[in-house]
Amino acid sequence: PAAPNDLNAFWMPFTANRQFKKAPRMIVAAEGMHYTTSDGRQILDGTAGLWCCNAGHKRPRIVEAIQTQAAELDYAPAFQMGHPRAFELANRLVDLAPDTMAHAFFVNSGSEAVETALKIAIAYHRARGDGARTRLIGRERGYHGVNFGGISVGGIVNNRKMFGTLLAGVDHLPHTHIPENRWTRGQPEHGAHLADELERIVALHGPETIAACIVEPLAGSTGVLIPPKGYLQRLREICTKHGILLIFDEVITGFGRLGSPFAAQHFDVTPDMITCAKGLTNGVIPMGAVLTSAAIHDAFMTGPEHLIELFHGYTYSANPIACATAIASLDTYREEGLFERCAELAPYWEEGLHSLRDCPHVIDIRNMGLIGAIELEPIPGEPTKRAFAAFLEAYDKGLLIRTTGDIIALSPPLIIEKAQIDELFGTLRGVLHAIA
Ligand code: PMP
Repeated sequence: PAAPNDLNAFWMPFTANRQFKKAPRMIVAAEGMHYTTSDGRQILDGTAGLWCCNAGHKRPRIVEAIQTQAAELDYAPAFQMGHPRAFELANRLVDLAPDTMAHAFFVNSGSEAVETALKIAIAYHRARGDGARTRLIGRERGYHGVNFGGISVGGIVNNRKMFGTLLAGVDHLPHTHIPENRWTRGQPEHGAHLADELERIVALHGPETIAACIVEPLAGSTGVLIPPKGYLQRLREICTKHGILLIFDEVITGFGRLGSPFAAQHFDVTPDMITCAKGLTNGVIPMGAVLTSAAIHDAFMTGPEHLIELFHGYTYSANPIACATAIASLDTYREEGLFERCAELAPYWEEGLHSLRDCPHVIDIRNMGLIGAIELEPIPGEPTKRAFAAFLEAYDKGLLIRTTGDIIALSPPLIIEKAQIDELFGTLRGVLHAIA
């Protein structure tokens, strides 16, 4: 459609995007590894959208699945009835997940997956007569979406402090971003002991009060913080010892980002629940899921009383078009071997990323799978300014990156070619010199 005469008036009703109104960056199309802007430029997608388009954009199989499903069954309530795609998808997910995951509960986003998992954790203990287990443990610099449960267990202080009333009874483990581990390729050596802080929190309140501990196996959107070797194993041991459920928030790490279906398999640590979203539908249609073990599911779903206690579900849970999109996404990942491809490309990616070490103001680089972070030295008194300048410069040079604070985060679609990895880091080198 033709642009309206008064663009400012046209943009005003859409509230979510202050930066756009300052400097419009309009995306009108996308295909494969690229976006097209309203002025006809191609932008290399260095972030798979928001860490979600793992198979890239406008994939024919996914487009077709949406069209076919919309023409066949557009909507069916998820309560009291079902439809074939929902059962098919649940089976596919359970097959893909670590062995102990036996059930999928469908939601519409990562944030909703987190809220659902937290409620399931408390309901599970209640169903077993452990009603006092209501406390939750998150981690500093954890990100678990924007709803009240997620910001309560989340570790972004600014997201919490504006809202006085959050979930009661939440503690935060320390984050794992410690100076000894700068410039680490893959998993850092130091810092597994940080998991022992969980023992301290347990001792403080008593294990009989704690329902669950939720962490991202690899903290993504707060700057790609890779767990030290042995850290997740220790968390698992401590949770098991005290009957605390361990939840992995795999909204970013799920669906191949680390070269395996889930990070749980990559790190060989099995949580009690997994939250996922984003790559589940290749980012194309809003959808998330909570995967649980049979023990958890059976405790809260057995008996009418417990079902009522957990009454929980959404209008769009297991929406047929979302399910069809997810199945087509999983088909695409499988047929193109994208998880394996991620693992194969990871060393090449690592080399390219670490070659930027000598660029101005770079103070740390870290990576795992097809994910990476470049941390820049903040301009004194103006945090985030340097990285945001890099974002603007990169966009001008035809590359989409993501920034959080003064950290540049990268997570390209898993279909990226080696030549595109070269292009990405070549552009980024130019960007870092240009903004110096
Ligand atoms: N958990 C994690 C680990 C995430 O990275 C995100 C989104 N970046 C969320 C939850 C929230 O997902 P959504 O934006 O789909 O609500």
